[in-house]
Amino acid sequence: MTAASVTQMKCACSSCLCVVNISDAIQKDGQYYCSDACANGHPDGAGCSHAGCECDS
Ligand SMILES: [Zn+2]
Ligand SMILES: [Zn+2]
Ligand SMILES: [Zn+2]
Repeated sequence: MTAASVTQMKCACSSCLCVVNISDAIQKDGQYYCSDACANGHPDGAGCSHAGCECDS
């Protein structure tokens, strides 16, 4: 039996709605982000570029 493990997480950016696979996510400070923009705190005001996500605003 293999233990079930979590493979998806919501992006750690608080206003981002994206869910990322842990294997694909950008890891920073032990948290998982959907994109470099989220991981870096949106330094340029750019969003994560995912449709329907407004985490840049
Ligand atoms: Zn997003
Ligand atoms: Zn994100
Ligand atoms: Zn974000």
